[in-house]
Amino acid sequence: MKIIIDAGHGPGTIGKRTPDGRMREFHFNNAVAEEVKNRLAADGYTVLFSHQQDRDVPLKERTSFANRSGAELLVSIHANAAGNSYSPAQGIESFIYPAAPARTRKFGQLLQDSLISSTQRKDRGLKTADFAMLRDTTMPAVLVECGFMTHKHEAALLQSAEYRKRCARAISFAITCMER
Ligand SMILES: [Zn+2]
Repeated sequence: MKIIIDAGHGPGTIGKRTPDGRMREFHFNNAVAEEVKNRLAADGYTVLFSHQQDRDVPLKERTSFANRSGAELLVSIHANAAGNSYSPAQGIESFIYPAAPARTRKFGQLLQDSLISSTQRKDRGLKTADFAMLRDTTMPAVLVECGFMTHKHEAALLQSAEYRKRCARAISFAITCMER
């Protein structure tokens, strides 16, 4: 089974970082993507990345690569932010396209539930959004926001190898739960 893992943004993307500047969002997204790939490859999955290490691949390029790949599922990995300074918003939320079919909804709920049980963070639920990665892709696609860079405690978690592993384990588990 072929899977697309998408680490949101790129290493140089403006803005996307913790308020103290210590972590760029891409570094979290990319680390989790690598761990998911290692786990799934060990289970016999083929994992392709729609991001690249040295640039912020444009969304259009990401979605057309995903659509051409023949992959059956897509997960776009992100870390959240509420404003530009530390604030109380916290927890994990996942997004699907508003008109997504039942299989995508099921995948989204599996990912959300799996992330919450693996991390024990606040459950902000499965939501809908008109994001390009969800709208312009042809396979079931879910965007996960694994915690807030703008929440003091979650910013520390997002930088820890242990928390990244927990997120990767949850994402891999949800993928293996999806029958063909
Ligand atoms: Zn993001």
